[in-house]
Order: sequence, then C-alpha cells, then structure tokens
Amino acid sequence: MDPRSAENIYAAGASQISYLEALHIVMEQASTLLQQPSPTHKTLPLIESVGRVLADPILADRDQPPFHRSTRDGYALRAEDLVTAETGTQLRLIGQLRAGEAWPEYRGALGVGEAVEIMTGAPVPPGADAVLMLEHAEFDAFSSRLRPTTGRTIVPGANIVPRGAEAKQGDVLATLGTRIAATHIALAASCGMATLTVYRQPRVAILTTGDELVDPNGSGSLIPTHQIYNSNAYSTAALVHAAGALSIRLPTARDQRESLTNSIRTALDTNSAADLLLLSGGVSMGKFDLVEEVLASFGAEFFFTGVRIQPGKPLVFGRIPAGAGMTARYFFGLPGNPISTMVTFALFVRPLLAALAGERNWQPSFVMARLSQEVRNTGGLTRFLPAWLDRGFGTEDSSALPEPTVTPIPWHGSGDLAANARANVYIIAPEQESCLAAGSYVRLLLLEL
Ligand code: AMP
Ligand code: MG
Repeated sequence: MDPRSAENIYAAGASQISYLEALHIVMEQASTLLQQPSPTHKTLPLIESVGRVLADPILADRDQPPFHRSTRDGYALRAEDLVTAETGTQLRLIGQLRAGEAWPEYRGALGVGEAVEIMTGAPVPPGADAVLMLEHAEFDAFSSRLRPTTGRTIVPGANIVPRGAEAKQGDVLATLGTRIAATHIALAASCGMATLTVYRQPRVAILTTGDELVDPNGSGSLIPTHQIYNSNAYSTAALVHAAGALSIRLPTARDQRESLTNSIRTALDTNSAADLLLLSGGVSMGKFDLVEEVLASFGAEFFFTGVRIQPGKPLVFGRIPAGAGMTARYFFGLPGNPISTMVTFALFVRPLLAALAGERNWQPSFVMARLSQEVRNTGGLTRFLPAWLDRGFGTEDSSALPEPTVTPIPWHGSGDLAANARANVYIIAPEQESCLAAGSYVRLLLLEL
C-alpha cells in the first residue's frame, strides 16, 4: 500500500513534515509538470503579453548591435593616432555621422590623422576603432582640426560596442518558459517582433467550505453574530490573478459529506476543466473538518497532510487521478484561517501554479533585512510573522543609502486580518531557531499582493 494513501494517513495520524520538506515535494511535482508536453498556446500583441509566459523563445533577428555602435557623442578616430601623436598634433575632421546614418561606402576607411564627428547610436565608420568623447577634445571650427585635451590617450574599442557583442543572429535572448516583463517586451520589439507566443493561463477552481460562511453582498445589512463573511474566496482569487492565472469560483460547500462530495465532483468535472483545485477550510482536526475524508473517497493521493509551519499547519497537498468524466487534478486543502490561506498560497500554491503556467524560472521571493527587535520562536514550527519592512527613506541622514529594517506587527494569530493588512512582509522564524536577535539579519517572505 502507498505509505501516503488515505488509509495510512488516518491510521498513522497525519505526520507533519518540515517547511522545506513540503516545499521540496511541491517543487518535485512542479518539475514533473514542466517535463510534460507543454500546454496549448496562442499569439498576442506585444503589450498584451506582459505577465504571460513565453511559449517560444525570443531569438535575435540579426547581430546585436547590428553595427559597431558609438556609445558617446564625440569623435570616431584611430586610437593609434592619439598614442603616437606628439603633443600638439591635431586630427583632421572629415565628416559627421548621426544616429540612423550610414557612412557612404565611396568614402572608404578613415586614413591616418582623420576623425569623424559621431553621435551616440551612430555606426562607427570603417577604419576608426575608438570614439573620443566630445568633452575630451578641443575642436577648432576655423581649421576643422581637433586635438585631445592635454595628455589624453585612448585605447582601441573605447566607447564602441562592436557588432554582435550583445548577441549573434539566431541567439536565444529569452528562453521558453520566461514570465514576460517589460524587459522582454523591449527585447522582442528590438528584434522587430510585433507579437509573442504565450502559454494559455492555468485555470484554478476555488472551493470555500464552512457552515458559518456568508458571501459579502455590500448591502450593509448586518449578519448574525455567529456568522462570518467569506473572505478566502476573494483573497484566493486575487492571489490567483496576481499569479497570472484564471479563477473559477464554486459555490461554498457546507460542512457535510454530501455537499462537499457534490462540490468536489463539480470541480473535477472535465467540462469545468480547472488545472488545479484549491479548497479552503475543513482540513483541521475538528469533527466537521471533512475535506481530507471526502477527497480520499475520490481516490486522492496525498503528498502531505500537515506541515510544521504556523500559520498553515493543517495544509494538505495531493492529486486526484483521472476517472470517469474527470481528468487528473492537483489540489491543495488550504487551512481556513484567512492568514493561513494566504501564507500557504504564497509558500506552496504559487510554485505549483508557476509550473502549471509553464514558467521555468520562478523562485520564491525571499530577501533579508535587519530585525529591529528580538523575536522568540518556541514549539518547533517554522513561523511566518506579519511584519513591516521599512525601507528607511525619510530619515535625517542623507549621506548614506538608507538601510531597511523589519519590525513584527503585534497580532492575534492566523485569523487576524486587520494585523495582516498592516504588514508588507512575513518574517521567517525557522523551526530550529528559538530566538532571532535584535539587529540580526533575518529572512523575509515578500508578499506578491
Ligand atoms: P477551518 O479551517 O474550516 O477549521 O476554519 C478555520 C477558521 O477560519 C475558522 O475560524 C473559520 O471560520 C475561518 N474560515 C474558514 N473559511 C473561511 C473563509 N472562506 N473566509 C473567512 N474565514 C474562513
Ligand atoms: Mg470550517
């Protein structure tokens, strides 16, 4: 029997793995996904492809730069002439080249002692091998002669990017699987492309569970005290969209086997064609936390059920095999506490979603910053604590670049949306470290949204 099968999970009592072990399992599935035949793709105008994933590499249409390009306004000349020139020797100006102009072929290569006035971005004429900056030369308009400012010499190649130095025709400039940003749009445009081929966006079914949930309706009428508004459906959809995927929202399931079974069946129906199923709530130890049990009744394979993290400990990750009218589908059972839902999304759903989108260079957004006060961590869990990363601008000292510092935000645990909304990062307190000292550098998880 598969040691991770549903029966064993219940038999053994869900064993919890570490944050890194869980991440490793997700990344393993992500790389399996990326080895499979690519999802279908389509062609979009350049601007519309921002945020999508390249399905074809961007290739250099010609050498880049296509000519020996001057990077300065100045004088194209033979470096040798300045090295050998006696003090006072002058060069003769024989012409001018603006960006977009070609040196006429009939004029041939620059001869000894000749120079051409050249603008940034213009092709260096044949025979010249360096560009002397305008500021480094004295020009006498009357005699059309110039000389370098006292003692200045120049090395061959100065202020020139040679043809093909940046890329050769046919080189891969951006690989397939790249998330398209402004820089890739610029790259494509610089190769004369008007469209890009992108993968289709993954579709994510979102299923919230809980008898207490009421949908916000904006009517302003109060709901009974014991009910709560469903916020996870919205935060999850927002995170899905920020990850460049599409969301399909299913009606909230009740905490009953039948309701959950029907909802999950709808989500798995081939016609609804979601690539990933995200459930929220119902994965803890409570009597009415039925999500794992109902998923198991669909033959689900569980990769893990519980991770030693806080928030988010009861997180479940698995896959339902293809069956009658159903395609194989990955799922996450996200814990229902609103902060747990968002943190586990950032930590585990995001990497899988990147792979489903065909993105090959995704990495978690971890950075380091100095901690303003001591943080204690007991209990053997890796903690993600809402915190404020102050970039340090607006301080008195204008002589040095500011140093960012991070400060934890007081909170009441994984349901405290108010505290979470005041945070812009999470401090990561690793499970094996019981104390993060004030002034030390700590790792942070950056929030994507
Ligand atoms: P559960 O994981 O179902 O045990 O839920 C844990 C906590 O999160 C409970 O306080 C729930 O009321 C709350 N919760 C569950 N689902 C949602 C949701 N969709 N929106 C807001 N809070 C939720
Ligand atoms: Mg619940």
